[in-house]
Amino acid sequence: MTTLTPVLTDTWDAERSWSLDTYLAHDGYEGLRKALTMAPADIVAAVKESGLRGRGGAGFPTGMKWGFLPPDDGKPRYLVVNADESEPGTCKDIPLMMASPQHLVEGVAITSVAINCHHAFIYVRGEVLHVYRRVLAAVQEAYDAGYLGKDILGSGFDLDVTVHAGAGAYICGEETALLDSLEGRRGQPRLKPPFPAVEGLYARPTVVNNVESIASVPSIVRNGAAWFASMGTEKSQGMGLFSLSGHVTRPGQYEAPLGITLRELLDMAGGIRAGHTLKFWTPGGSSTPMFTDAHLDVPLDYESVGAAKSMLGTRALQIFDETTCVVRATSRWMDFYAHESCGKCTPCREGTFWMKQVLARIEAGGGVDGDLELLVDLCDNILGRAFCALGDGATSPVTSSIELFRDEYQAHIDGHACPFDPTASALFA
Ligand code: NAD
Repeated sequence: MTTLTPVLTDTWDAERSWSLDTYLAHDGYEGLRKALTMAPADIVAAVKESGLRGRGGAGFPTGMKWGFLPPDDGKPRYLVVNADESEPGTCKDIPLMMASPQHLVEGVAITSVAINCHHAFIYVRGEVLHVYRRVLAAVQEAYDAGYLGKDILGSGFDLDVTVHAGAGAYICGEETALLDSLEGRRGQPRLKPPFPAVEGLYARPTVVNNVESIASVPSIVRNGAAWFASMGTEKSQGMGLFSLSGHVTRPGQYEAPLGITLRELLDMAGGIRAGHTLKFWTPGGSSTPMFTDAHLDVPLDYESVGAAKSMLGTRALQIFDETTCVVRATSRWMDFYAHESCGKCTPCREGTFWMKQVLARIEAGGGVDGDLELLVDLCDNILGRAFCALGDGATSPVTSSIELFRDEYQAHIDGHACPFDPTASALFA
C-alpha cells in the first residue's frame, strides 16, 4: 500500500495490524489519555479548529455537528457510528475496520467524552460478517484493557459500546433511516429537521458520524488541530482515504491529503491498466457526477470538485477505460438505485424504476428518439424532489453521462445495438 500521510493506515502493513497490541505500539490510545485530561468543550473546539469534515460523503464540519447538540440535561445522548458503507465504488470504511479497527474504537471513546455520551453504537452492514466480527473483537479487546466500560482508565467516565449488524440495505446508510433501523423499525428516512443532533436515537440528541470521521479524531487530539489543518487545502483540511477501483494497475486504498489529483493518485497506483486509456471516472461514488480525462488535474477537495460540477463524496474513484460502454455502466448503477430505493417517496420509487427500464432498452438496442430527453426530464423531476439523497444521487450518473457521452447514447439508439457488445442487443433484434 502506498501512502503519503500514514495516519489512518499507519499500521496496515504491520503483522496482525488489527490487534490492540499493534495499535498500542503505534501510539494507540494516547489520544484518549490526553482527552481524559481535557475539558469536553476543548475537545470539541479542537475538532472544529482542525477543519475535519464528515468523511461519509457530505463533508459537513464534524466539530460543528457536535456543537449542535443542545445543552446537556443529564439525560442520555448518543453517538452512532455509520459503518453502513454501501455507495457503489465506496470501499474505504470496510478496509479501515478490517485493518485497524482500534482507530475507530479510540475515536468512539474520545468523541463520547467530548459530547458526554455513555452509550455509543457502531452500525455495521450485516452481510459483511467478517467486518462485524472484527469490530466486535476490537471492542471486546478495548473493554478487556480498560479503554471501554466502567471508569475508563481510572477517569470516572463510563462508556458502553454496542456493535449492531444491519440487514444490508443501502438506505440504512442514510442517517435517519439508520436510526429507525437501530430502533428496530424498517429503515426509512425521517423528515429533517429535526436533525439527529437535536432529536435522533430514541428521540434523544445524537451525533451520527462516519467511520473514517471518527477514526480521524484520535490523531487530531494527539497531534493537535493545527497539525491536521496543515494538511490538505484551505477549506478541505486533513487527509483521507482515496479508493481506486476498476481499470487501474494497482487498485486499493491510498491515504493522502485532500486536494491530491487523480493524476497523482494514478502515479501511485501504477496508472491505467497496460495498453488502455482513461475514459471516465467517479470522484466520489456513483452518486457523484462522472468525470473524464479532462478532469485528471482537478484537486480532489470539496471546493475544486464542486467547481468542476461534481462532488467529492466518498472519494470512491471508480476508473473506467475506453473498453467500457458508458450506457451499460450507467444502466448497472440504475439497477442498483431502483433495487435500493426504499419506496417511501414517489419521485425516487417510480423515477429510478422508470430510468432503469429506459436505460436497459437503450443498452439493448431498443432505444427510440426522445429517450435521452425523457431521461433528462425524469432526472429533473427527481432532483430536489426526493425525500433523501438517494433519489438525487441516482440522477448523477444519468445526467453526467448524457452530457459527456451523448454521442455514445445516440449511437446505441441509431444503430439499434450496443457498439461495444452487439450481442447484448439480441432482445430487440
Ligand atoms: P446532509 O448534507 O443532509 O447532512 C450531512 C450531515 O450534516 C448529517 O449528519 C446532518 O444531520 C448534518 N446536518 C446538516 N445540516 C444540519 C443542521 N442544520 N443541523 C444539524 N445537523 C445538520 O447529507 P446526508 O443526506 O446526510 O448525506 C448525503 C451524502 O452521503 C452524499 O453526499 C453522499 O456522498 C453520501 N453517501 C455516502 C454513502 C456511503 O456509503 N458512505 C452512501 C450514500 C451516500
